[in-house]
Amino acid sequence: MSEKPTFNIVKEVLEQLMERNLVKCVGCGKTLKGDVLYYEHDGGVLAEDGKRYWIYVECRECGYQNAWWKLFRNLGRERRE
Ligand SMILES: [Zn+2]
Repeated sequence: MSEKPTFNIVKEVLEQLMERNLVKCVGCGKTLKGDVLYYEHDGGVLAEDGKRYWIYVECRECGYQNAWWKLFRNLGRERRE
């Protein structure tokens, strides 16, 4: 059990990426604006409290819930293109 809690990092990075307009909504394709939200989930990101949380951003335009891993995955893809 050497996994480090990354919840705070993931949340911070998402907020910073949105501030710089670097992420697009998976649902509508527009520049993603919204709050970083989360709930307890076994498949989520490990937090300091030892629990796992599913992190997502709800798009203000279309209401789509963008899972954190999809946003990071798409970011890498756009950089290569
Ligand atoms: Zn959207």
